[in-house]
Amino acid sequence: MQGNGKVVIVSGPSGVGKSTICKEVVKRLNNAYISISATTRPRSPSEVDGNDYWFLSEEEFQQRIDDGLLLEYAEVFGHLYGTPRDTVDEALRSGKTVILEIDVQGAKQAKTVFPDAVMIFILPPSPKTLEERMNHRGREGADAAEERLNGADTEIAAAWQYYKRMVINDDLQQAVNECVQIIESNESES
Ligand code: 5GP
Repeated sequence: MQGNGKVVIVSGPSGVGKSTICKEVVKRLNNAYISISATTRPRSPSEVDGNDYWFLSEEEFQQRIDDGLLLEYAEVFGHLYGTPRDTVDEALRSGKTVILEIDVQGAKQAKTVFPDAVMIFILPPSPKTLEERMNHRGREGADAAEERLNGADTEIAAAWQYYKRMVINDDLQQAVNECVQIIESNESES
């Protein structure tokens, strides 16, 4: 049940700046909401439970899967990530634009639940920029950062099949403008 609201799926490789873009986009839209995902990934010191993610144990996450509380979930870089169904449904019922910042595997699942979802993939201006941003971010250790960079090629390759809208995050404001335009033009992928 999508209600009156609109679903926007935003994906892109790690370090491309999805979160920053989504936070800016939500400020520019009327009545929009960024879904807070559940994850088994450890919380980094700068992150707040219930704000950045709901940080769960494997058991707690599995329980939510078993109870059908997640509208999609996937394993990404060795950890589980999923979208809570209830808050998304509630936001859609009240006519909000709901932004799901999720990976390509999750996006495919979410698209079957919400066929009218707008799908946007964020690209880095170049592989080199992504590497620099990942290193600069310094959230992960070197091994995890390397794994995420290696995963970027696969994710980008898969994205060409599923996302009609690709936005290059070279200039932040321009990327935000493009996303807002895509969302406001009310285009769906289907
Ligand atoms: P990070 O650990 O950097 O916050 O996120 C790693 C990856 O997991 C990113 O590609 C992000 O989009 C994805 N992700 C975050 N939340 C979800 C979710 O609820 N579902 C899915 N499928 N992927 C998610």
